[in-house]
Amino acid sequence: MPQKLVVAIDGPAGSGKSTSAILVAQKLGYLYIDTGAMYRAITFLAIKKNLHNEEEILRLAERTDLKLDFIEGKTKVFADKKEITEDIRMPEVNAYVSEISKIENVRKILVQKQREMGSGERGVVMEGRDIGTVVFPNADVKIFMTASVDERAKRRKKEYSEKGINITLEEVKKNLLSRDEIDSGREFSPLTIAGGAIEVNTSEVSIEEQVNIILEEVKKAANKKGILLRVN
Ligand code: C5P
Repeated sequence: MPQKLVVAIDGPAGSGKSTSAILVAQKLGYLYIDTGAMYRAITFLAIKKNLHNEEEILRLAERTDLKLDFIEGKTKVFADKKEITEDIRMPEVNAYVSEISKIENVRKILVQKQREMGSGERGVVMEGRDIGTVVFPNADVKIFMTASVDERAKRRKKEYSEKGINITLEEVKKNLLSRDEIDSGREFSPLTIAGGAIEVNTSEVSIEEQVNIILEEVKKAANKKGILLRVN
């Protein structure tokens, strides 16, 4: 039996999933995978190549060699060996990514890659919208993170300001609400709380507490499987 656990963390944009997922992965020495970065990468390339047709976008997803490298607490993103880490976080990508993520066959390709990435020897913390429902429905730990839209918008606005991107709080909030609506309402793999998931409202608990809640669930799962955990 593999001596590893799969930890699935889902939730809407700005819910704090990345912060907690990264810290948990670092504490466990597990692989961290940000699946949103993969949808963003395809979206960025589609915008750059001016592709609007589903078939073309599908071919792009099939042919692009996507690589995520987690280095010093940050995910670096490469498409066909070219780094696009910063490009995928731009407002244009935010505005379009949920539309691309609705395409069933694009999802199939990325889900396949995500399963491959998570199927090695090493334990994995994977975050996204459909990890506990679709990518790894048998994940050992499932977490669903939420926060009020005002709190999420404030966090995103701060991230933009730190990067020198000028955008109003209202615009950020509008994008979050629009993505929430499309991500939750889409036909294939909508954002929804997985059966058995633990809900964590990050407006109410500190980052340290969020990490501890997740680690407690991980410890329970490890005990159940008879896996010895090393928490740093
Ligand atoms: O997590 P992040 O906000 O970077 O994700 C960007 C977008 O990618 C989401 O709004 C959603 O449309 C899509 N996504 C998805 N399924 C995932 C991860 C992200 O549909 N597993």
